[in-house]
Formats: sequence, structure tokens, C-alpha cells
Amino acid sequence: MQPNRVDAVFLDRDGVINELIFHEESGVIDSPFTVGQLKLLPRVGAAIKLLNDNNIKVIVVSNQPGVARDHFTEAILEETTDKLKDELAAQGARLDGVYYCLHHPEAPNPKYLKICDCRKPKPGLILTAARELAVDPGHSYIVGDNLSDIKAGKAAGCKTILLGKPKCELCQLMESENVRPDHIAVNLYEAVQIVLTNGDMLTKGGKSKMEMFLDTASLEEIKAILPWGVITGLTTNQKIFLAEKGCNFRQRVQGILSLIEGPVSVEVTSSSLNELIREAREFASWDNSKIVIKVPMFGDGRGLHAASLLDKEGIKTNVTALMSTRQVWLAARAGATFASIFFNRVKDHGDDPEKVVAESRSLIDRGNFKTKIIVGSIRKPEDVMQAALAGAHIVTIPYKILKQMPLHPKTEETIAEFDRAWEEFKKAEAK
Ligand SMILES: [Mg+2]
Ligand SMILES: [Zn+2]
Repeated sequence: MQPNRVDAVFLDRDGVINELIFHEESGVIDSPFTVGQLKLLPRVGAAIKLLNDNNIKVIVVSNQPGVARDHFTEAILEETTDKLKDELAAQGARLDGVYYCLHHPEAPNPKYLKICDCRKPKPGLILTAARELAVDPGHSYIVGDNLSDIKAGKAAGCKTILLGKPKCELCQLMESENVRPDHIAVNLYEAVQIVLTNGDMLTKGGKSKMEMFLDTASLEEIKAILPWGVITGLTTNQKIFLAEKGCNFRQRVQGILSLIEGPVSVEVTSSSLNELIREAREFASWDNSKIVIKVPMFGDGRGLHAASLLDKEGIKTNVTALMSTRQVWLAARAGATFASIFFNRVKDHGDDPEKVVAESRSLIDRGNFKTKIIVGSIRKPEDVMQAALAGAHIVTIPYKILKQMPLHPKTEETIAEFDRAWEEFKKAEAK
């Protein structure tokens, strides 16, 4: 399976596929209220056809509160959708799915009065469509012309493309809400070009099969190491949070998310399966594109059950506290995004951690699993290299250890020697 394949592109409708309409009577810019008001934007058919030709599903996910507000009927909405499909078909393009949220929290029409999970910025519409059409939101994009599209896409774990212009009002609003789209494009055609070229491109650090994460919950430690440019993700656990006594968990995680571009592992603390899933969904809702749910490998299989359920919901997991190759294999089979081997605890138990890492990597490669091995429980700089060379995809390193890694006494001695030589040269330099 290609790690960078693109399964689907979710499209907002109004302002992305068809023109927004200025309704003179009410003075608002909104969706078309009549079938006749539906007009496709330029090159939309060509853009969608390109996705069709590349076997990428095209799925409309759109809030249509106009029915709830009595602007038009469900029948008119249906007719409008038919016209949309016909006009696209005339250009050789097709939609693989159309999903509307008809609800509104203040609808005058009680039939549609609901605080639902599908109205964007909530991700429900995307998640339902993804489930029904068997696509992975983590391997999909959303294209939208609103903050709510980008928020919904991020919450579902999609890559996001905003239609707009850099520095436009909307971009400034996003700046202030700390919601940044992955890309900005002027129209759908340009957005599709981004999808088709970036489908093969990797994010920073992704190209490497050996990455480094920082094992901390301290913002100060993150800020100290991040400028080195070596860290592509972060892991935390309960012990790490204990060291940060007095901080608010959610606020701290959000602080971390604002600094770290890559995956951020946070551990669930409940023991019952239901509670664990509830907790995982809540954490993931903070930023599903970055949050990874750490689930312990409970001896009764509960951790595997949770990882398997969360994988189906498109929530990333890190099955943790693994001490043996067979546990890693189980985690991979359950659909874990990451599997964490505790290097020094394996050693404490009398086993060979390098052997566990090497065997695990071999199983993952031979089985073509998506799971990446994180090696944690690092106590000295030498452990980092042993773990990396044994086959870890990622080594997660405590600040204290990482700080020691650039230092070598011979390097320091050499630098001092060169400095002295330069001093002597400067003294003797011809004026
Ligand atoms: Mg829109
Ligand atoms: Zn809804």
C-alpha cells in the first residue's frame, strides 16, 4: 500500500463548485435558492474529471441549512443536485457521493432543528461519507472556501486546501483562530493540481525512514530543541505530565500542538473500553491530523480492541508499553499507527531490546503493515543509536538525553584547537 496515496477529495459545494448567489431581497450572499440559480464556476468540470481519471473519489460535503430556514424545499435541493450532476456529466465529470447536512441549531422548521454532528465545522459529514465510501480521511483532502470547511477537514484528519488568496480577510481570520489550511488555491482547478502533485510528496521528515521524536510535555524543552530541526513529532505519557505538575492537561496539549508540526501522542487513562474510546475521541477532536492516541497493550486484549475500533474511525493510535515482538505484531495487525517498544524496560526484564526491535521491524516490512515502530524508554545517548540501527522507524528521546547528543569531547578539543590557530593567525595577519 502506498503511504502517500490519495483516496478522496471532499468538496464543499457553494463557492467551490458553483457560484455563490447574492440574494437581493435579503441582501445576503448564500447558496442558490432555486434550480435556475445554480451556475458552475469556471473549469470545475475539468478539475473533477482529472480526479475521476486518477481514481480519486470526489465527494461533496455541504451544509445546506436553506431547507431548515424555509429558503427552499428538499425537493428543490434534490433537483439542484440533479442539475449539478447533469452539468458535470456534460463535461465528462462525475461525483462519487453527495452528502448534505440539512440541520440548523435555530431552524424555524422543527423537522430540521437539531444540534447535529454533521454540520461543518464538525467532521461528521466527512466521517460518514468516508465510512460509506470506504475511503481513509487521513489519505484525503478537503477543498473549501470557508473556515468551517478547513476546521471540519482538520478534525477528520484530512489535508486541507482553502480557496482564497493569501492575506485575504479569511486568511487573516484563520491566523487569529490558529487554523491554517495546508494549501491555498485560487480555484478548484488549481486545488486539484495541488492534490495531484502533492499526492506523491512527503511532509518534512516523512521521507526519512528514521525519525526522531521528543519525549516531553514541557513547552520550554520543545522550544529549546525545535530550532535544531531534528524533531518531527512528540510523545507524552502520564509520568511526563506528572513532571509538569500544576498545568492544565488540555491547555498544555494545545500549547504543544501549536509548536509541533507532526504527530503528538497523548495517552488515555481510562481502563474500561467504553471510557477509553470516549476519551480517545475527545482528545482526537482537538486536532485529528496530529493527535495520536496512546493505548496501553492490556493483557486481556482491551488495548488491541480499542486500537482496532479507533483505526476504523480514522483516529491514529500508538499501542504502547510493548516488551516483545509478538506484542508488536498484534498491534500492527490491529491497525495501530505506531507501536512503542520500551527499550530499557525490555532490558530490565532480561531480554534483548535490539533483537525485539529488529524482529519487529522485519515483521512489519514483510507483512507490509502501516505501523511504525517507536522506541522509547531511552536512558542514555548510546541507546538512541542502538535502537535506530536495530530498525526503529522513530526513536523518542527525553530532553535530557537529546541535549547530550551533539557533545563529543574530541569535537570540543578540535574546535578549541582551531580557535587558537585562528587567534594566532589574526595576530600575525599582515595589515
Ligand atoms: Mg462554501
Ligand atoms: Zn447535520
